[in-house]
Amino acid sequence: MGRHTEAVCRLCRREKEKLYLKGDRCYTDKCAVVRHAYPPGEHGQGRQKFSEYGLQLREKQKARRIYGVMERQFRRYFEEADRRKGVTGEILLQLLESRLDNVVYRLGLARSRSEARQLINHGHFQVNGRKVDIPSYLTRDGDVIAVREKNRNKPVFKLINEAREQQGVVDWLDVDHEKMEGRVIRIPRRDEIDVPVTEHLIVELYSR
Ligand code: SF4
Repeated sequence: MGRHTEAVCRLCRREKEKLYLKGDRCYTDKCAVVRHAYPPGEHGQGRQKFSEYGLQLREKQKARRIYGVMERQFRRYFEEADRRKGVTGEILLQLLESRLDNVVYRLGLARSRSEARQLINHGHFQVNGRKVDIPSYLTRDGDVIAVREKNRNKPVFKLINEAREQQGVVDWLDVDHEKMEGRVIRIPRRDEIDVPVTEHLIVELYSR
């Protein structure tokens, strides 16, 4: 799978807001957005004026960065959302939220989506009792996601446990931290998805 190779804090600074890409550090005053609240680069502190297209593009980039999805795959999510009945922008976000890496992060079983992706790639998770090592796997209502038994004592999960307080768990998931597992109760409604994205701008961008 493709990935961002740019320093991740630059991605947040470009969007001028916290995208919580790094885990623990995002909750401290070491966060680059707290320290340098302007976009990176030579003209970062200059006045920025975006065209309509520019605004739509920034919004799409922001969403891609939050969920760690590359352009081609992001467009496929849009096309799928567009095919389905309902509000396209909302369905797009629901698809992104249903990704296994996002669900693992939301359950507090990883400190960031990128850490979740790595742990899933390394085969630490199972869905409904079967190993799944595909971060883009789309979860459904009732799916039970768990750290595989043989991996539960790994030091990384101890660190994740200690950091969990900062994150909190969302209403559409049920979690048992003792057992290191959680369940998807339902697909989240838009008001339950706390990402700072104005999704209709993304729909407008792809509908040009
Ligand atoms: Fe973004 Fe986290 Fe880096 Fe802050 S510390 S800029 S929220 S990735």
